[in-house]
Amino acid sequence: MRRKSPETLAVHGGEPRRYDFDALAAPIVQTATYTFRDTAELVAFFEGRTSREEEYGRYGNPSVRLVEQKVAALEGAEDGIAFASGMAAVTTAILALVKSGSHVVLFSDCYRRTRQFVTTFLDRFGVSSTLVPPADLDALEAALRPETKLVVSEAPTNPYQTVPDLPRLARICRERRIKTLIDSTFATPVNLRPIEHGIDLVVHSATKYLGGHNDVLGGVLVGKQGLVSIVRDLRHVLGGVLDPHAAYLIHRGIKSLAVRVRQQNASALAMAQTLEGHPRVRRVWYPGLASHPNHEVARELMTGFGGVVTFELDASLEETSAFIDACEIPRIAPSLGGVESLIEQPALMSYFELTTEQRQAVGISDSLVRYAVGIEDADELIADLLRALG
Ligand SMILES: *Cc1c(COP(=O)(O)O)cnc(C)c1O
Repeated sequence: MRRKSPETLAVHGGEPRRYDFDALAAPIVQTATYTFRDTAELVAFFEGRTSREEEYGRYGNPSVRLVEQKVAALEGAEDGIAFASGMAAVTTAILALVKSGSHVVLFSDCYRRTRQFVTTFLDRFGVSSTLVPPADLDALEAALRPETKLVVSEAPTNPYQTVPDLPRLARICRERRIKTLIDSTFATPVNLRPIEHGIDLVVHSATKYLGGHNDVLGGVLVGKQGLVSIVRDLRHVLGGVLDPHAAYLIHRGIKSLAVRVRQQNASALAMAQTLEGHPRVRRVWYPGLASHPNHEVARELMTGFGGVVTFELDASLEETSAFIDACEIPRIAPSLGGVESLIEQPALMSYFELTTEQRQAVGISDSLVRYAVGIEDADELIADLLRALG
């Protein structure tokens, strides 16, 4: 059968036709543990002679499984596993795939906490790493060593939204038996499905588009069953499990994922196009614009370009802050992907401790703005933005 559309999979993917009590909506199975009828059932469970799945809350929960199966269906993956946050998913997955002596390659624009985990934390345990320039696959190839076990990237990255050529990345790594992990939080499975391009593992901060309402933290990892089960075993030990109530909120959020993301794609593209011609704007980074360095790759791989628009004003740090304060619809907050538009000035957020010169050195200018489009009316968002630009 032809693969179903993201719209249909978001609503029905990974779900049974009916739940207990003939309920239509997914139940929240709010329990810490599960009971056995007698010791014989317990023995049968451990010997794998029953179809029951649950034993104890850290090892699994039916509400959490629904999230895992729905995201796996959307990504076209065999299996999935959910976590308490995106970072719990990223760190557990990386830890499960390396050991002392392993080498990991990251792109230098990778999520700050992922980079911190690999370059400072794993480094203490004898795992080395190399950072290569964004989307530069020649540099990636040159950085690989016999002990390289894993390549990690986002697609698109934050804040400049570079998009690596995933089929080529997958080919380079597969030839050398190196695993690939793509953080696809910015893209969502509506816009990009890395597994279809040969990537081994895909991770999401469900806090962003999957949950979609800025009210819950979570993370999901999907991929081939064997690999996912290695990560699952480590989750059983580390314990970063998703709570059943949070799972319910994420599962409910995903139902509207495709319609939200399609609207966010359209609004962000319109906003990016408007900003690109504006006299107060120095530069816009949006993979849907022909001016973006990875536009061709993005067009090849993605069916939409996402809801985040990054731009640099022709302005000082203070003037940029004044512009942000003058916007009336977006709220000032870190994060993205929810129904509410959010705006931030990276120089004052993730890079606050640095001086202007240090920021410049890591490629973050004082007048950089990240606008994460919500589901408000696009014309009203753009009118608000233009008024604030003056
Ligand atoms: C937010 C984010 C994370 C971390 O997710 P949390 O749910 O906040 O732990 C990881 N990667 C990307 C790209 C993100 O945007």
